[in-house]
Amino acid sequence: MPDTRHAPTPILCKDLFHLPDGVIYLDGNSLGPLPKSVAARTQSMLTDEWGDLLIRGWNKADWFGQPGRVGDVVGALIGAPVGSVVMGDTLSIKVYQALAAALALRPDRKVVLSDSGNFPTDLYMARGLLEMLGQGHELRVVAPEEVAGAMDDTVAAAMLTEVDYRTGRRHDMAAITRKAHDAGAVMIWDLAHSAGAFPVDMTASNAEFAVGCTYKYLNGGPGAPAFIYVRPDLSDTVRPALQGWMGHNAPFAFDLDYAPAGGIERMRVGTPPVIQMTALEEALKIWDGVSMHAVRDAAVALMEQFIEEVEARCPQLTLASPRDPAQRGSQVSFRFAEGYAAMQALIDRGVIGDFRAPDIMRFGFTPLYLDAGDVTAAVDVLDDVLSNELWRDEKYRAKARVT
Ligand SMILES: *Cc1c(COP(=O)(O)O)cnc(C)c1O
Repeated sequence: MPDTRHAPTPILCKDLFHLPDGVIYLDGNSLGPLPKSVAARTQSMLTDEWGDLLIRGWNKADWFGQPGRVGDVVGALIGAPVGSVVMGDTLSIKVYQALAAALALRPDRKVVLSDSGNFPTDLYMARGLLEMLGQGHELRVVAPEEVAGAMDDTVAAAMLTEVDYRTGRRHDMAAITRKAHDAGAVMIWDLAHSAGAFPVDMTASNAEFAVGCTYKYLNGGPGAPAFIYVRPDLSDTVRPALQGWMGHNAPFAFDLDYAPAGGIERMRVGTPPVIQMTALEEALKIWDGVSMHAVRDAAVALMEQFIEEVEARCPQLTLASPRDPAQRGSQVSFRFAEGYAAMQALIDRGVIGDFRAPDIMRFGFTPLYLDAGDVTAAVDVLDDVLSNELWRDEKYRAKARVT
């Protein structure tokens, strides 16, 4: 028998992705690339399911069960047990649902704690909910390093994104959740930049809620449905703020009164986006047999190489991400005053990263389709753009609607 104990887990599966010739893709943290099989699967969903099955697809192709079925696949990637994750809507909506459910668990407390590294929509949704409730809640936004110290007995819920979308700084999920629980607060984690990037263990964290999107490291495509996790001991009792018919315990009884479904199904709202959900379900097959620990180790190696090469060759840039990989997600950011124009010049030469105001050049690393050769080739282009000041070209200054 061959000795497979030390065989490296095969994680580089570039061939499974559609990547245009001449492109080095360092933006999978914002929109993952297309897994090739998704095109054929989506086509067959359109013609064989929507086309031929028509309304019968809800049962015959089990479109109705898909949000839970796909939720279990995502759950396996974030250390969540079967039946604790369901798909649907967008991440902004899932943030709203999780926070509303969390506040209902602590009716006597009025503070929602978050941090200034959070993605703005999470804070916007929280503010909207608190205004809507009209019960005098306060959204308290502190600096990321002050979160643990700000956890006190006024906090109803702490709502944090594990990885900062700008710098890649990563919270210590287990330690902060413990702090929250010691203070009697409910913990909500946004895993937008975690799911598919590195191992997450929802069960071990003991947090009550988690939410995330699937178009970043999970490659579900633009508009792919979001997910929500509810800790199993709570899922039969949490309050669903968005009482849609698909989260009802008997949607096809068409009762005039709402009664929530048991378990995680109550976090469903309305008709799921079946075409997108099918694209996502197919995209998730990439992870069959892939070890998230191996993905993490390979991503760290790529990031360390990138930082080392950039710092050696591009003194114009300043590292904005934590230097310690343990405190970083799967992206590396550098500051450069002309970052927007420089990123446009890079993209023009096939190295795709992105820019976040005011001066952050962001690069995502995913070992599923990137290797050490890509890193060096990307730094070659970056070096050229910076040392020859190619970013000075006027055409790189016009800001597009989406950056
Ligand atoms: C990407 C991201 C979002 C996006 O929300 P959508 O509703 O999917 O547009 C929200 N929150 C965080 C933390 C993100 O990183």
